[in-house]
Amino acid sequence: MASRLAIDGGPPLLTRADYQNWPVITQDERQLIQEVLDCGIVAGGTAPQVTALEREWREYVGAKYCLTTGSGTAALHMGLAAIDVGPGDEVLVPAYTFLATASSVMHQMAIPVFVDIDPVTYTLDPARLEAAVTPRTKAIMPVHIQGCPADMDPILELACRHGLYVIEDACQAHGAMYKGRMCGTLGIAGAFSLNNLKNLCGGEGGLFVTNDENVLKKGDLVRYFGDECDEVTSRQKYNASIMGYMYRNQELPAALARGQLRHLTAFNDTRIRNAEYLSRELRQIPGVIPPVCPPDCKHVYWFYAVRFDPQAAGVDVDPRRFRVAVEKALFLEGVLVGQWQTMPVPAQDVFQSMLGIGKRYPWAINEAQGIHYRYDPHDYPVAQMLCDTYTNVHSIHPPNGLALNERVVAAFRKVFDSLGTVLDHADDDIRPGFDGRLYGVG
Ligand SMILES: *Cc1c(COP(=O)(O)O)cnc(C)c1O
Repeated sequence: MASRLAIDGGPPLLTRADYQNWPVITQDERQLIQEVLDCGIVAGGTAPQVTALEREWREYVGAKYCLTTGSGTAALHMGLAAIDVGPGDEVLVPAYTFLATASSVMHQMAIPVFVDIDPVTYTLDPARLEAAVTPRTKAIMPVHIQGCPADMDPILELACRHGLYVIEDACQAHGAMYKGRMCGTLGIAGAFSLNNLKNLCGGEGGLFVTNDENVLKKGDLVRYFGDECDEVTSRQKYNASIMGYMYRNQELPAALARGQLRHLTAFNDTRIRNAEYLSRELRQIPGVIPPVCPPDCKHVYWFYAVRFDPQAAGVDVDPRRFRVAVEKALFLEGVLVGQWQTMPVPAQDVFQSMLGIGKRYPWAINEAQGIHYRYDPHDYPVAQMLCDTYTNVHSIHPPNGLALNERVVAAFRKVFDSLGTVLDHADDDIRPGFDGRLYGVG
């Protein structure tokens, strides 16, 4: 006999206390942060912690150059500025990502052109790129979404054929690999985020990576006011040569990130073990579609997204309604599930209203030439399908292990054994999601 669902008044299978928070703080961070406090140097472009983090990260990913930044978004913007993406240029970005991929383009007064995603990996669909290229296209920004490597070979091939740059948004993909190569090192520049949610945590911050000396130099200028540095004295000249910003990081976040980096491989291994366990078990439940790791790739499971298919589950209901109903039932069983992005990025108000910067900038630049843009969510059916049908399962980050995930699987089974009752409660006022503390937010 199936046990009574929590959504139907039965006892939940899990409680919040069964979950452990991210990030995992170790003695390494305590020691490195103590070093900062003892030495008294708290900031600066050549300060010991940021310099060491830059060296350790470029060694970890096998890149020639690395700069620490104030955020992953800053690192993305530096990459675009360093390759001279400018007003009216177009940059191809996936329709399913975090807003910052697209907004970093707009920081350069350039125009994000969205391209739909692959229905299996949820990364930029290379087959749809060609049709989006115009004479104004300058760059492509693949995103290694939720730790899954984008299909880089065809993207790099197309970029080469059209003379475009590739800037990788690796903000969710620390340690992910594409055919033996580290994500973030395959394009002209790569950006990683160090924010509290990400696989490598500095609280806030980012890492800018490149193998190109000119991109490094320009990126460094963009990072710090465009101000030149005196070659003899290494002092700031207070004479900016280009438009720049203030995108530096500082010693305490760098020390935290360095401590975390010593554990990154082990932490990623835990994520992979948890995710592979979940996938093995959940794929046996009709109607549950686990995430896929593409062949010859290493997925690092920043988040773990499952989709639900009502037809495969044997119920006749709209897919979005089904996802919402299942999500609510799981949530009341104590499973921390919920959506991250709820809509394709081009469906967000800033694109629907085209209230970007000032009056319709950056779009107004090209509209003056008779070139018009539209952000119609219907143009991205796969991203929309994903947003209708997915939820994230928040039990894969360390220190959580198989004991928790076994109970998560049991809750999935319990819910899918009583789908009739689940659907009876589809309209209950329940709001799935996690509390901030789970990912170190105050
Ligand atoms: C987190 C994230 C960013 C931005 O990183 P911040 O450090 O928060 O600025 C950019 N792109 C993607 C895909 C991200 O997940």
